[in-house]
Amino acid sequence: MLKSGKKEVSDLSLALQELMRTIRSCEICWDFSDHNPCAICSNKKRDITTIAVVAEPQDVQALEKIGSYTGVYHILRGTLSADMDKQTSSVKINELFKRIQSNPVKEIILALNPNMDGETTMMYFESEIKRKFPTVIVSRLARGLPTGSELQYADEITLENALKSRTVLK
Ligand SMILES: [Zn+2]
Repeated sequence: MLKSGKKEVSDLSLALQELMRTIRSCEICWDFSDHNPCAICSNKKRDITTIAVVAEPQDVQALEKIGSYTGVYHILRGTLSADMDKQTSSVKINELFKRIQSNPVKEIILALNPNMDGETTMMYFESEIKRKFPTVIVSRLARGLPTGSELQYADEITLENALKSRTVLK
């Protein structure tokens, strides 16, 4: 970047400033967007009774690439950590519970990365949602995603199969 000269650096700096100025949080799904609510949450064709819970905004892009998911999302912006010392309080957990409480939610799809922190988070939500909202179906993506992998790097076919044959947690 430094080699490329001052002009590019200052262009980039302006672009970043512009991004910081226009970027918002969607206060429904907690995705980053230039609109609040974001394009997905304000799309009347999306099924608000099905919410896919993901860790990061880039996971939304991975699932949107499949093109067949019609539900909405909830971006946690992190995960619960198996290591409690590393836990951050900014994870949007209560926001999800509030959302389930005030909307006609039928199914929560836990679509977190199949690694330690993802598993910890899914187990937590599975038990909490069942306890707080016994009528809501809780499901998770089918096995098939390699353990330890990240959703955003999964190919579309693997991801689509994992979504289609998701398992309902009983
Ligand atoms: Zn949104």
